[in-house]
Amino acid sequence: IGVLGGGQLGRMIAMAAARLGLKTHVFAHHADEPACQVSAAATLAEWTDEAALARFADAVDVVTYEFENVPAATAAFLSARKPVRPGALALEKTQDRLTEKTFLRDLGIPTAPFADVADAGALARHVGQIGRPAILKTRRFGYDGKGQIMLREGSDVGAAFRSLGGAPCILEGFVNFEREVSVVGARGLDGSFAAFDVCENEHENHILSVTRAPAHMAPETAAEAMDITHRILDALDYVGVIAVEMFLVAETDASGVRRERVVVNEIAPRVHNSGHWTIDGAETSQFEQHVRAIAGWPLGSPRRRGQVEMRNLIGEQADQWAALAAEPGACLHLYGKAEARPGRKMGHVTRVKP
Ligand code: AMP
Repeated sequence: IGVLGGGQLGRMIAMAAARLGLKTHVFAHHADEPACQVSAAATLAEWTDEAALARFADAVDVVTYEFENVPAATAAFLSARKPVRPGALALEKTQDRLTEKTFLRDLGIPTAPFADVADAGALARHVGQIGRPAILKTRRFGYDGKGQIMLREGSDVGAAFRSLGGAPCILEGFVNFEREVSVVGARGLDGSFAAFDVCENEHENHILSVTRAPAHMAPETAAEAMDITHRILDALDYVGVIAVEMFLVAETDASGVRRERVVVNEIAPRVHNSGHWTIDGAETSQFEQHVRAIAGWPLGSPRRRGQVEMRNLIGEQADQWAALAAEPGACLHLYGKAEARPGRKMGHVTRVKP
């Protein structure tokens, strides 16, 4: 299995593949990256190095990726030689926030109101229509809250646009959500579908901090979230694991009846941090599920093993490793990163209560 990207997601894909008796070959930049440490082979080169990409393609049966910003040219070059799963369509629809939201809207899936912002003039017009608060996001290369800025009453719209470097942007209406949830689902080569229970996510400084499964939400809303994920997978003719991040919006009407709905925020065409709980908390992990899907195996059971809580170890939080290693029932995962920089995901710990 060829994996583009050498981070912790690639590492956990490689470890799941090894458990199934499959070998991983990572395409990365440095030999000490987390995935390279646990893979049978690595090609260390740039995304544009066609000779290296050709050697890599020759050495594997199927190619996957652990991050969605794989350059389109790299994906196309590899697709001409070996199956790339998930395919180019998934990358195309998810690398650009405007394309992604338009794709969702065309499927009839609820999103925040949004508008294309090519320049400061367009921004001023759309802020008038969408209202404030609103969030201005760069269309490409944003993650963990980077490349986005909140527009409140009185904030300077021109300055906000300039602060994002004048890059093409999308403006989104602010969704007044109760909590953030996600569905990690999978589609097999034969079109079969399986999803883990909806989980809920808490962020700190825009970085995922805690995931709990199951999410607190009505069963019908959870079923709706699953159905949305299934429709997205089918529309992309997808093979592999996907994560769909959603806002849970709850309103209580005049007669006191609570109504819930989900609004999709973002799609990640890959395994996802909010699915790490499945390693210890489900019958099949998201990583094994991804490997099964792209290798053309039957999908595994996504059944949850109990009440699950996953906490990320960010930066110096990883210094708690010895206490966590001593705690009965705490499942500790460390990613083999040499240096604990602030904001860097160093590992996670999962606790499962039956
Ligand atoms: P994103 O990079 O799109 O995942 O956004 C990062 C975080 O910003 C999300 O996890 C939300 O907490 C918040 N956020 C993003 N978009 C919106 C929105 N339209 N309404 C409310 N909060 C948002």
